[in-house]
Amino acid sequence: MLRRYKGFVGTTDNGATVELIDSHAHIDFPQFAEDRDAVLERARAAGVTTLLAIGSGPGPEKLDAAIPFAEQHDWIYATVGTHPHEAKELTPAHLEQLATLARHPRVIAYGEIGLDYFYDHSPRDVQQRVFREQMELAATAKLPLVIHCRDAWADCLDMLEKTWKPTGLGGILHCFTSTLEDAQRGLDMGFLISFAGNSTYPKTQNLRDVAKALPLEKLLIETDSPFLAPQGYRGKRNEPAYVGEVAKAIASVRNLAADDVAVATAENFRRFFKLAVPAVGRTGVRLGNSSL
Ligand SMILES: [Zn+2]
Ligand SMILES: [Zn+2]
Repeated sequence: MLRRYKGFVGTTDNGATVELIDSHAHIDFPQFAEDRDAVLERARAAGVTTLLAIGSGPGPEKLDAAIPFAEQHDWIYATVGTHPHEAKELTPAHLEQLATLARHPRVIAYGEIGLDYFYDHSPRDVQQRVFREQMELAATAKLPLVIHCRDAWADCLDMLEKTWKPTGLGGILHCFTSTLEDAQRGLDMGFLISFAGNSTYPKTQNLRDVAKALPLEKLLIETDSPFLAPQGYRGKRNEPAYVGEVAKAIASVRNLAADDVAVATAENFRRFFKLAVPAVGRTGVRLGNSSL
């Protein structure tokens, strides 16, 4: 039943195997301190073949938070960047450190950076300045962005159109929560749109409607672990092994099998970042269907 996507290399025969890529997880966070190895093993067992470890960590006090994981595991890649929550802590010295870390060979994107007007942990003018400064660093390093945006879509997209679009480097709009029109503005700048566990909740049909309307080849899936556990695990700690639940939610509105969404989003990620198909690939996992 598995559709064969252009460019797909792997075992698709009778749909027996599938792969998942978690495009956004905070595996360095203290919520994983007790059982991190087991968490990563469960991800592999669930069919996760590639994971993007987000390096914003606790803030500027630890700018290389994700890099050790990418050095230790060939299936994990890293980002660097300071989250808008901690923008007010970022000094010029930190920016210099980030410029160096951005050149690390396992760092494939810059983020998560952006604007968060929901929590306003840093003043908005400081968030905007730090967002702009980090866009400049990413442009110098020729890295695409991982964008965090909450309740700030107008400002965030305006700033990206002004400062980032001319670079042509694009990126990921992570944990997308806005409208189809805003998603389209992202696509026009070369961004992929990533959906997280909140797209599985009964009350977020608006997000699934966006996921239904966008071109399949522009979608990614993510956990944002340890946050936003999908329906069924809600209230618990999220972990990369659950990323298939997001594939199920998207599949349910697109009349596809969840495996199809898993394969397509994995291909999208690899195509965008120009990554090779992993040597140890699909694990015989089947996702089944959503209960939505
Ligand atoms: Zn975020
Ligand atoms: Zn995040």
